[in-house]
Amino acid sequence: MPPFKNNQTGMTITIALSKGRIFDETLPLLAAAGVVPGEDPESSRKLILPTNRADVRLIIVRASDVPTYVQYGAADMGVAGKDVLDEHGGVGLYQPLDLNIARCRMMVAVRNDFDYASAVRQGARLRVATKYVQTARQHFAAKGVHVDLIKLYGSMELAPLVGLSDAIVDLVSSGSTLKANHLTAVEEIAQISSRLVVNQASLKLKRNEIQPMLDAFAKAVTK
Ligand code: ATP
Ligand code: MG
Repeated sequence: MPPFKNNQTGMTITIALSKGRIFDETLPLLAAAGVVPGEDPESSRKLILPTNRADVRLIIVRASDVPTYVQYGAADMGVAGKDVLDEHGGVGLYQPLDLNIARCRMMVAVRNDFDYASAVRQGARLRVATKYVQTARQHFAAKGVHVDLIKLYGSMELAPLVGLSDAIVDLVSSGSTLKANHLTAVEEIAQISSRLVVNQASLKLKRNEIQPMLDAFAKAVTK
């Protein structure tokens, strides 16, 4: 395989993906664009993965870092959850396509024994623990509910159980994690799915390479 050409030549396309659900569910879309990874990120320690196409490589980053790599042009495009994009703000990113993968919901959840509706009605000040501070701030501000936000990086379900918070804002799919921890979802904030994000300069400079991939992804998206 020839060495990767410098990004500035407009030849190599770098795609940022996170391991796990997003990588797995993006594979069929990549295949539709004729791109097959040369290695499995779950078993490989490499962070730059070659593909069957000399002009396309994948980089493996934290889910929440995908918008940053694309924003600065270190990746030409990437796949990021709407949850992550809402927190990031989407500055400098072209978002041409909802890939309709990694679907779940952003929810407010509380302990089974906590009367959320009544707390809101009484104008109580709520302590809310979440990884999604911007999303939570916007949601409660729009409802006129006063909140103290507590930033966490994971295991949000624990916070109400040990008295760190009254509520959490987190992603829910089946609801089984909430159930296992005696929590109940009380409010939906947003429907979440993953989106294709493209660096705006890349799209202009590498349109001949990028546009066919966008078209192939769009055709392969399942509604
Ligand atoms: P990080 O390690 O960067 O904190 P993470 O551990 O939240 O990220 P994942 O749990 O793999 O990463 O989630 C990656 C993306 O997948 C999320 O941003 C979200 O869009 C989506 N996602 C998360 N949880 C679910 C779920 N239960 N069902 C469907 N999609 C989900
Ligand atoms: Mg996770």
